[in-house]
Amino acid sequence: MSRMDASSTAASTIDWARVRADFPLLTRQVHGKPLIYFDSANTGQKPESVIEAVDDFYRRHNANVSRAVHALGTEATDAYEAARTKLGKFLNVRSDELVLCSGTTFALNLVAYSWALPRLQPGDAIVLTRMEHHANIVPWQLVAQRTGATIKVAELNERGELDLDQLYSLLTPEVKVLSLTHVSNVLGTVNPVREICREARRRGIVTAVDGSQAAPHRALDVAAIGCDFYAITGHKMCGPTGTGALWARREHLAAMPPFIGGGEMIKEVRFEGTVFNDPPHKFEAGTPNIAGFIGLGAAVDYLSSPGMANIEAREQELLAHATEELSKVPGLRIFGQARDRAAVISFLVEGAHAHDLATLLDLEGVAIRSGHHCAHPLMQHFGVPATCRASLAFYNTHDEVDAFVAALGKVRKLLG
Ligand code: PMP
Repeated sequence: MSRMDASSTAASTIDWARVRADFPLLTRQVHGKPLIYFDSANTGQKPESVIEAVDDFYRRHNANVSRAVHALGTEATDAYEAARTKLGKFLNVRSDELVLCSGTTFALNLVAYSWALPRLQPGDAIVLTRMEHHANIVPWQLVAQRTGATIKVAELNERGELDLDQLYSLLTPEVKVLSLTHVSNVLGTVNPVREICREARRRGIVTAVDGSQAAPHRALDVAAIGCDFYAITGHKMCGPTGTGALWARREHLAAMPPFIGGGEMIKEVRFEGTVFNDPPHKFEAGTPNIAGFIGLGAAVDYLSSPGMANIEAREQELLAHATEELSKVPGLRIFGQARDRAAVISFLVEGAHAHDLATLLDLEGVAIRSGHHCAHPLMQHFGVPATCRASLAFYNTHDEVDAFVAALGKVRKLLG
């Protein structure tokens, strides 16, 4: 571990080498080289405590939730509901306003289908931004097609930040909903969602925020953001895949019809008609990913131990170091220089295709992502088909950044 990893700033009271040791996968070798995992924006690695929580559920408590009165059924239900409570505290929202679901993709579709579809009409408009993930574009397109609403797009400035003047100029009376990401999965740009949601609310516009890339990196106070909907995904925040949540204002949850029908979401079913369960259960049809949510509860506990403020400080140190080192690589262009950024760096190297770079880096043990990152409109904005993306997490190290930059120098020469 280098001197910088036992470093001297706010995050320094934490022993990050010990934190890293909680992640068994990070000791792996790939192609005979120590793994450098720089793809956490894609999915995060899991600490021992999360893996153990899932394992323990299947070994000792496995039963379905909310159906059985036997001991195991009660244990499973209690643990599942405890995860909801933990997540509510983590986000600073009421847990009975949290719909547990498979992730952000489901959460945003729930908003689009259950809130927007019955409400939007021809002449209405939806505002999205240039930096959205496809999960926050395609559901709105499907709703727009079915309702006759149109989509307007907020554009970016040269730093890859939202052009707020242009965004606010779009918020005209026909706009019914603004849906935007909190943090860009490609540029790392952190959007000032609190200010944006306040402006939208003043104009009577409902706001949905995609928090997939914010929840793993920042202390979140969703209540203070003042949005109407906030979506998160568990697998990017040290939790299992297939877990996530939608927070929604109580009045929306009460007014929204169910999205998916089935067991768990009802009070009484007759062939003449069904009485639905109360929110949030009204939106949780079928057997959920019980073990996954118990794992997500453990992930929330885990993240709360260093605390999100320390995690953010640690990641900002890593980001600053990576940005500085990468800027020394000849011909390397970083996409997005937002003043407020999470530890995500998209880049291209002159003369090299993104996939070639990523493939050769993989042979050096470095896992980065290459491609469009499910953000075609953003790639269109930059006029490139793909970028490389190195995304860091608190469990990465300064030494890994150095090894990555050295490997990049090596493969750049091979390709050049
Ligand atoms: N939005 C953003 C900003 C994302 O980065 C991702 C995941 N890449 C998603 C949405 C989709 O989330 P999920 O994996 O939960 O479907």
